[in-house]
Amino acid sequence: MGKSSKDKRDVYYRLAKEQGWRARSAFKLLQLDEEFNLFDNVHYAVDLCAAPGSWSQVLTKKLGENHQKSPQEQEPKIVAVDLQAMAPLDGVIQIQGDITKESTADEIIGHFDGKLADLVICDGAPDVTGLHDMDEYIQAQLLLAALNITTHVLRPGGTFVAKIFRGKDVTLLYSQLKMFFPVVTCSKPRSSRNSSIESFIVCQNYQPPADYKPTMVNPLLDLQYDAKNEMVGPNRVIVPFIACGDINGYDADRTYPLQSTYTPLDPLQPPITAPYKTAISLRRNNISTA
Ligand code: SAM
Repeated sequence: MGKSSKDKRDVYYRLAKEQGWRARSAFKLLQLDEEFNLFDNVHYAVDLCAAPGSWSQVLTKKLGENHQKSPQEQEPKIVAVDLQAMAPLDGVIQIQGDITKESTADEIIGHFDGKLADLVICDGAPDVTGLHDMDEYIQAQLLLAALNITTHVLRPGGTFVAKIFRGKDVTLLYSQLKMFFPVVTCSKPRSSRNSSIESFIVCQNYQPPADYKPTMVNPLLDLQYDAKNEMVGPNRVIVPFIACGDINGYDADRTYPLQSTYTPLDPLQPPITAPYKTAISLRRNNISTA
């Protein structure tokens, strides 16, 4: 599809270029802000999965305005991370890295010099495969990785905003987020296409559980449960899931042909009072219940 046909089809694509945003996604963040006042009193922020950088542009604008209003407050600090290289942006520290990797998290944390962020945003999206279950799973992994980093850098009371795919298992993610944020809202900006299962969660008033130790373990990816990745006490919220059984054994989803010598056997222990017993007896005796 050429640029001009996209121009015709997508008003936000057009507007982004007209208004100087690197991507149409800028409008999603701006519209979320209209509803949630995301940038009030925000001076330090992290933009996860930031390329090409329109959310970082919004951050520099909004945090810059905050600083102009209250110059006595700290200078804005913005750290942006993405797998892909991003063209430089004034006032934004950039890291090229994978947010699911502990080393990237350490690098982000390093830039904060022990200080804490007021806001973490994540617009991360995997390369969509079209296999919905797979796409939702990878999206959930990104979200959990972003949440892990957030637990290291967000100040109590801070806000976390992230893209979420509202699939069938989304309530599990909501429950996990509710462990850390008393207020979790799912929001769909006008600029996010209705045909997309994308929405955004806005998690407010960060309050980790008592004694929670920030960790970078991703329970669904990392299988090393060593002293560094301890999952004990309040940290033990998400249970690991491990497949087991002989990989060369029978596959429960396949059908295997019966051997010619096969004789059907009765169940070892038939139900004592089967709930369907009456129905079978009525049918056998040709008695209608209608
Ligand atoms: N918010 C951005 C903006 O406004 O310009 C757009 C973000 S784009 C929709 C999603 C980004 O997520 C891509 O640039 C992709 O490289 C990044 N991404 C996906 N998986 C990632 C990962 N594991 N670590 C870091 N970035 C990732």
